[in-house]
Amino acid sequence: MPEPSYPTTALTRVRRHPERGRYDEAAVNAILDAALMAHVGYVIDGQPLVTPTLFWREGRRLFWHGAAASRMLKTVADGLPVCVTVTLVDGLVLAPSGFHHSMNYRSVMAFGRARLIDGEAGKRAAADAFIERIYPGRAATLRPPTEIELRTTSFVAMEIEEASAKVREGGVAPLEADAGWPAWSGVIPIETRLGAPVADASLGAEAVGLATPPPYPDGQRLDALLAGAARRADTLAPA
Ligand SMILES: Cc1cc2nc3c(=O)[nH]c(=O)nc-3n(C[C@H](O)[C@H](O)[C@H](O)COP(=O)(O)OP(=O)(O)OC[C@H]3O[C@@H](n4cnc5c(N)ncnc54)[C@H](O)[C@@H]3O)c2cc1C
Repeated sequence: MPEPSYPTTALTRVRRHPERGRYDEAAVNAILDAALMAHVGYVIDGQPLVTPTLFWREGRRLFWHGAAASRMLKTVADGLPVCVTVTLVDGLVLAPSGFHHSMNYRSVMAFGRARLIDGEAGKRAAADAFIERIYPGRAATLRPPTEIELRTTSFVAMEIEEASAKVREGGVAPLEADAGWPAWSGVIPIETRLGAPVADASLGAEAVGLATPPPYPDGQRLDALLAGAARRADTLAPA
């Protein structure tokens, strides 16, 4: 049985460095799940706009949220075509020549049309899913959103119609012209790790004392933690 894959189309076939392209769901989803942030790209009246936002994934759907008055949310939720990208930067690649410096990275471009999530129940579920995606186990411990908060917030869902991933890993590409040139060559890894939590004293000493410990241990890699949280959400999701 072949692994499920996003269709490789004229839009999503990676032409530049095709060997770095991936289309199987596992590869694409692993990158989406390890990223905290996405960029949503769309065109209004001929003007390209790319809006950074937090997001999460459920199956082949991506979700994001914002103020109901947000131009991005109003526009993309009308079914406008959007391209959502995520990028994880893994390393600087230093070659003997400037032209052959590179980056190690994992990125995804996902295409589809977004729609608004209607109704209070749907919005409440989305609000919880959003919190759980970043902070597993936390939604149930929080003050529930008020009607006004829900009314002034929009959630959008985008079915991924097509998607591609592109991954560069490894060292410097060897080039005859670079051989023996006396410049340092190699890879400088880049990682995002969590710092030590700082409790918010403005909520009162008792609240600080009561705070549920954050689910993420100090010093952990953010991409691995997010991927782990996403796997847990997958396991908990109804079939
Ligand atoms: C951190 C980072 C730094 C980069 N720096 C550079 C740079 O300095 N110069 C440069 O030329 N390129 C850079 N790239 C690669 C860049 O994202 C494009 O892949 C490349 O520019 C080719 O673009 P294209 O539209 O010609 O690709 P094409 O291969 O023609 O694109 C066709 C299709 O392939 C898929 N695709 C292309 N690129 C990506 C991608 N990155 N991720 C997922 N799917 C993709 C899309 O579905 C796209 O529609 C960088 C990528 C990352 C993540």
